Amino acid sequence: MSRLDLHLHTTHSDGSCTPTEVVGLAHQARVTALAITDHDITSGIPEAIAAGEQYGIEIIPGVEISSVVGSSELHILGYFLDWQSTLLNERFKSLRDSRHRRNPQIVDRLQSLGIDITYDDVRALAGSDSVGRPHIARALMDKGVVTSAKEAFDRFLGEGKPAYVPRELPSPAEAIHWIKAARGLAVLAHPTWVKLTDQTLAELARQLKAEGLDGVEVYYSTHAARQTREYLSLAQQLGLLVTGGSDFHGLTKPDIEVGIGKGSLHIPTVLLSKMKEKAAQE
Ligand SMILES: [Zn+2]
Ligand SMILES: [Zn+2]
Repeated sequence: MSRLDLHLHTTHSDGSCTPTEVVGLAHQARVTALAITDHDITSGIPEAIAAGEQYGIEIIPGVEISSVVGSSELHILGYFLDWQSTLLNERFKSLRDSRHRRNPQIVDRLQSLGIDITYDDVRALAGSDSVGRPHIARALMDKGVVTSAKEAFDRFLGEGKPAYVPRELPSPAEAIHWIKAARGLAVLAHPTWVKLTDQTLAELARQLKAEGLDGVEVYYSTHAARQTREYLSLAQQLGLLVTGGSDFHGLTKPDIEVGIGKGSLHIPTVLLSKMKEKAAQE
């Protein structure tokens, strides 16, 4: 049975596997087409394409942009975009710079809570230049402060927790406009994470469609069957594309595997041809 996985992270953002390793895992999982969607960066794509050629796996260029609505983060996936666009990559660089300013502030807050941690500890773990909160979570695990990444977020790093520092992020409309300017498809990632207070998901999706949103990530590792059905019907009602992905991160989300998520994820391969039809019109 061939599989699709359109949401994967590598060491170029906060994943623990290189692009080559991710493509190798995809091969083992019988994935025939995949998208690398690192956070605010496209530098992992060339290596993934080279590995994809070796394994005979189609690589779709992608990215995941963090945006903010009110006090809640909302992620927008971009597919088939011109990932070498200078303008796009300049925008991503300024997003990463704002994240770089934020991480030392988080570590300062942890120190003021009496935790023995330095920014060098976190950087050493990250290895690449793109440090994220999952690396801070791993440093806290290594130091025995917490026993899991989830505990690190629940007690310290998550929104509203004592070491939380808000980020300077674009609005979802801006993120969508950036993707459209690079002739890509813009997709609302993992709707299960979207925390809405005064509007429904359907209203939000309708507003974002008016800004250029093309699709909804219906199939996702932690969507319950009921949610998958709900998001599928939302996408159908609004005439939006349906996509799916595992959100594989390697060791930072150890219970999620490439292609199968927590074991039962199955993303119909037919979705890809519909995405390609739409992308060809961009
Ligand atoms: Zn995300
Ligand atoms: Zn992701």
